[in-house]
Amino acid sequence: MTKNGILCEVDDRRVCLDPKNADAAGINFVSHAHADHLPSKNGGTILASIETSEIANLRGFKMENHIESLDDFSLIDTGHILGAKGLLFDDIFYTGDICTRNRGFLQGAKIPKCKTLITECTFGLPEFVFPKMDEIQKQVNELISELYGKGIPVILMGYQLGKAQTITQLFGHWGPLYLHDSVKEMNNLHQKFGVQLKDGIGHSDAQKNGLLDKKPWIMVAPMMSSKSKFIQDMKSKYGAVTIGFSGWAQSTKFSFGRRTDYSIPMSDHCDFDELVDMVIQSGAEQVYTIHGFVEEFAEHLKKKLGIRAQPLLENSLDDFT
Ligand SMILES: [Zn+2]
Ligand SMILES: [Zn+2]
Repeated sequence: MTKNGILCEVDDRRVCLDPKNADAAGINFVSHAHADHLPSKNGGTILASIETSEIANLRGFKMENHIESLDDFSLIDTGHILGAKGLLFDDIFYTGDICTRNRGFLQGAKIPKCKTLITECTFGLPEFVFPKMDEIQKQVNELISELYGKGIPVILMGYQLGKAQTITQLFGHWGPLYLHDSVKEMNNLHQKFGVQLKDGIGHSDAQKNGLLDKKPWIMVAPMMSSKSKFIQDMKSKYGAVTIGFSGWAQSTKFSFGRRTDYSIPMSDHCDFDELVDMVIQSGAEQVYTIHGFVEEFAEHLKKKLGIRAQPLLENSLDDFT
């Protein structure tokens, strides 16, 4: 563990896993394009999927010396967002961010066998067990139907990269569908990679042309505070109601999930039971935990499952993308 993140020395190669700054002398693996996993500077070789490279580019980080594959290293789908990968090398599996549940166009991760597992545990507390996807879909469809019946427009909110595309796919059958401009841009890139998403008019164009005056409608937007100007405008002008999608909505202790009128516990990460299943499936003899409830999850693995486990990073609750 270094200040720059996780460094593995394999034979004569330096392998950095989601480093803060790319190592000039090493192989830098970038698991996916969420901001907290992208390096701030180029350097050395960057190993990442083509999707991750293109999404990073859209977000203002152009990867130099980018490669998509390397001998003795396998990039494994992690089902977190488009292009998200884990890295399997030298009997070590690094998960990056991972989800084993199928959600819309995202297939849950299949876990490879390994001796050492380095896993995230964003939701590594037993209270985080999410409802099944079909229950979530049913609940949200009923809610939208009820609001539509009263002529109330609905704003569905989730992270601009990942959640917003899943929401568009799951609930885009409600019309007319509008997209926050930033979501539209990200959806377009997903469509380019073959993800089937219904088209929607961007919110600026819709507003300019008076389309939002014809209610009800549905809009997919990034997670925003209820105090943001955008949400306040949508509420005061159109009487819109917000539904937020976040794993944090499952907890009574954390406020992240309750910034919206309704909150739905849907996440792009494994829930607690899925994390435990993943560890068992990997057959790992040693587990290192990073991101989230690192101490608690490692303790659980040791006490309940008798697996050697320890945190690799200090507890960081700032990473919930
Ligand atoms: Zn992520
Ligand atoms: Zn993350």
